[in-house]
Amino acid sequence: MSKQITISKTITFNGHSMHSGKMTQVLLEEAPENHGITINDVLVTPYNVTNTDGMTTVGNVSQTEHLLSALFALRIDNLKITINSNEMPIMGGANKSFIDTFLIKKCMKILISNKQYFFPQKKFLIKENDSLLSYEPWDDPTRTDLHFDCYVDFPYVGKQQFSWNSNDFKLYYDQISSAKTFFWREQFQKECEKGRCKGVIENKNCIVFSDNNNLNNNELAKHKLLDFIGDLKIFNIIIPGKYTTIKGGHRLNNKFVMKLWNHYQSLKQIKNNEININNEITRKNIET
Ligand SMILES: [Zn+2]
Repeated sequence: MSKQITISKTITFNGHSMHSGKMTQVLLEEAPENHGITINDVLVTPYNVTNTDGMTTVGNVSQTEHLLSALFALRIDNLKITINSNEMPIMGGANKSFIDTFLIKKCMKILISNKQYFFPQKKFLIKENDSLLSYEPWDDPTRTDLHFDCYVDFPYVGKQQFSWNSNDFKLYYDQISSAKTFFWREQFQKECEKGRCKGVIENKNCIVFSDNNNLNNNELAKHKLLDFIGDLKIFNIIIPGKYTTIKGGHRLNNKFVMKLWNHYQSLKQIKNNEININNEITRKNIET
């Protein structure tokens, strides 16, 4: 089993938030083993997701998915995140700049405790209209990697697909980490009318498309995969197996993660009950 990871040096990011347009500062600090990830002292866990409308909000901080996806790719388990606003900065529209900073600082710190894993023994599936999210455990119980297949279908562009295995950091870095946030033109106009997207700089931190021209190869599928991985990271326990996401989004991602989380909690409860019963038996044996 691999060891838990945190960082050894403090990292700061400054940038505009996508919707508010405000300049925002994010501070990342070392955290002890089994601390997990906290954002302004709120633990990153499926129960603390408070909104999934177009992005994922943990506590009162929105658009957590890009930084969390970077933490998944970098295998960071424990981190204290402090932000002076209620929206993460959009940076380049994805998470390459986050990852580059970690790599340049060479700040990974390996801790003593093992990483936490969860090995469900069954498949999970969520289906809504033509959207589907699924999980399938590996036949080989010693496998600890995660495989993702992401399928999307958007106006103007049509169908795209991208796959990634968690052992291939280079592919994540080269292909996924620079796949930008996107809107199709009409969707973007509606967001602007609602007073959102104030920090969007088209083609710099966001793609607004009405044809296929300014898109890189399968860029929409890559960004949706980046988002899904960030939303799965909210569990912060590694769940090896095969994931498929077809026309997913943050709301469905959270519903899916909650399903896995509830199963994990129910198994933990059964295990705790068994421990309590065993303790009770042991105590009675000692007493008699
Ligand atoms: Zn995104």
